[in-house]
Amino acid sequence: MQTNSGGNTTSEKVIRSVLDGCADCDTCRFLMDECCLLFPELYRLYDEEKEHGRPIGEDELQRLSELCTLCGLCPCPDIRMDVIRGKTERVRRKGMPMSIRLLADVQRFGRLSTLAPKAFNRILSFPPVCSMAKKVAGIHSQRKLPRIAGENFFAWARRQGLDRKPHRSPKAAYFAGCTAGYFFPEVARAAVAVLSFNGISVHVPPQQCCGMPTLLEGDERTTLERVRFNLEVLLKTARTGYDLVCSCPTCGFLLRILLRENACYSDAYQKSVNATADEIKIPAASAEHKGFIRLKKSMYHKILTDDGYFHELNPLERIALSESVMDMGQYLKRLHREKRLNTRFGRIDSRAAYFAPCHQREQGIGRPYEKLLQLIPGLTVVSGGGAMDCCGMGGSLGFKKDFHEASLNLAQPLMRKIQAADPTVVITDCLSCRLQFQHMLPFPVFHPLELISQAYELGRDEKEER
Ligand code: SF4
Ligand code: SF4
Repeated sequence: MQTNSGGNTTSEKVIRSVLDGCADCDTCRFLMDECCLLFPELYRLYDEEKEHGRPIGEDELQRLSELCTLCGLCPCPDIRMDVIRGKTERVRRKGMPMSIRLLADVQRFGRLSTLAPKAFNRILSFPPVCSMAKKVAGIHSQRKLPRIAGENFFAWARRQGLDRKPHRSPKAAYFAGCTAGYFFPEVARAAVAVLSFNGISVHVPPQQCCGMPTLLEGDERTTLERVRFNLEVLLKTARTGYDLVCSCPTCGFLLRILLRENACYSDAYQKSVNATADEIKIPAASAEHKGFIRLKKSMYHKILTDDGYFHELNPLERIALSESVMDMGQYLKRLHREKRLNTRFGRIDSRAAYFAPCHQREQGIGRPYEKLLQLIPGLTVVSGGGAMDCCGMGGSLGFKKDFHEASLNLAQPLMRKIQAADPTVVITDCLSCRLQFQHMLPFPVFHPLELISQAYELGRDEKEER
């Protein structure tokens, strides 16, 4: 496909090549029509250029790249990482606008706001101040903002002594992530409670943001800094006998999937698995089928290289960390399979619509919470949306004034399905989906761990009453 426009910088060239590649392929024209904002716009631009000869401009290519939230639903991992590469190049060249910097750095905003949460909440409760703050941060005037928690999770964890290493095994190190850590500490506290109800000693090691918000906005320097920190601390923790768990599917997606991308093509990995001089050994994709796929090195060595986003970091350590981290749902399911899960749940009479978020689906761990929630007496769990449904929030995309309407429109099919399920509560493990559900639906929204923790507490109370 010959290109005739679309900017001369590396950033625009990268996005243009994505556009040309996907226009040639055409698979996602219909496949992704209702669950992604990028592809409808990509094909609209392409069709307009082709039919009316109107060249696609740099601004249009830039806007196009902003529509990808790395949800992972589209079929080609390379394509979406190219979009991120395009964004990263642009930030390298032009820097990042202040409004995006404020929104992208969840960790910094969380730390600042929880220094004086009451003052922050009081200030934001005055409509003129709130709308001015939204303007500065590029947030749409109608978007509901989360309340700042009175005490963030990390401060609470220190008060509980969870920053100290426990002596009693079994023990787990918990990676909370920034959104739970600063904005929904009740979720992170529920994770600690659930582990404790199962007799597992909890440690909250020093941690930085997982890196996803800054990666999405093209801030490579901050992302690598934070991921490097987590890699070092978490791996050291895992190597001293801790299970590593996280409750946020986006943190899990980064730590378990993105971090290890292409690491197996590195020389260090090939050496570690005793690949011969003329082969590239690739670990089989599924946990059930262990072993390797072997490819001829002379044919593939130029395309199968460790050149992805995290290539600067040690490939063996990236693989080791990704293999050590478990999603909390996956971890509890394993305890259940091994008959080690505490199942003394109290009764919760409720009808819950469960939505499995995109970054959980992308980890290939199934829907562990669905089964776990069904163990709670009285709780009816129904599916709230399918594999191609999207909440539309896309991290911070739904906050941005230019994408707010598009974010709500994208979410409509899912919201209709949830309404049709007639729930009393909505459950999802993604806190970004939670923000969108809270914005668009009249139901209370919980993380599955909050319900599981509540069921444990009710079960304990029932036992004490007897
Ligand atoms: S993402 Fe992959 S499958 Fe979809 S249109 Fe682009 S190249 Fe084709
Ligand atoms: S990762 Fe998600 S948002 Fe990005 S192009 Fe693919 S489907 Fe669209």
